[in-house]
Amino acid sequence: MLGRDHALSGALAFTAVAPLLHVTGARLAAAVVLTAGAGVLPDIDEPGSTIARTFGFLTGAFAWIVHKISGGHRKGTHSLLGVALVAAASLGAASWQAGARASGPWWHLVPAGLILGLLFSAAFRALNIGGHHGDAFGLALAALMIWKGWDLDLVTPRHVPMLAVCVTLGMLAHLAGDMCTHDGCPLLYPLSRYEFGLLPAPVRITTSKVAEHWIVTPLLIAGIAWFLWRDAGSALTAHVHLAGRLSPSLPGPSCR
Ligand SMILES: [Zn+2]
Repeated sequence: MLGRDHALSGALAFTAVAPLLHVTGARLAAAVVLTAGAGVLPDIDEPGSTIARTFGFLTGAFAWIVHKISGGHRKGTHSLLGVALVAAASLGAASWQAGARASGPWWHLVPAGLILGLLFSAAFRALNIGGHHGDAFGLALAALMIWKGWDLDLVTPRHVPMLAVCVTLGMLAHLAGDMCTHDGCPLLYPLSRYEFGLLPAPVRITTSKVAEHWIVTPLLIAGIAWFLWRDAGSALTAHVHLAGRLSPSLPGPSCR
């Protein structure tokens, strides 16, 4: 599956669960982009992938190391163990960041900053937003999120920070996407190399072919639009209604 559709599937996953997490407004927008970035994260095991090219040779070299450690492309990072390890790392990064906010040393912000900078920039790159400035947008959004502490919001009854929720959701959406292609995912790697699929073989998607461009991408965009309308539409229409109610009292041309 293309990086673009993996990013869209991450965004779709967050918009779908946003009401359960009570995330709205600017926080919702930031979390959707962050989960889109996490949607391309498992392909950090492939030096030529969208996310591996985010910061040139820096992320390229990191991807090469991940490729070696995780057993190759679509192995460790596409398994449940891989998702659990990255989720644990993002939980650790968030608790370090929380320590720094409570007057700890500034360098405790670094792990969360690196994750956020990488994921936001990868999201903009995968979705072709911002062109050459996409990386700068990504880093700026990461800095804003750290400054505001939005990624530390405890968004589940189990008090899991937003950063870990977005990273885990995005990675799971990626695995689900790859399981709809002919390749499947080795969910139980390294115990087993069996590649699990979600669809019967005849209807599995071939990456970058007509079905992905003309069916999968439009469906993902329509799903995101529908969920965003459900999540944020009432707030938008409330503003319009409020504006409509306020406007007669504003001085118009007839008052002059
Ligand atoms: Zn993949």
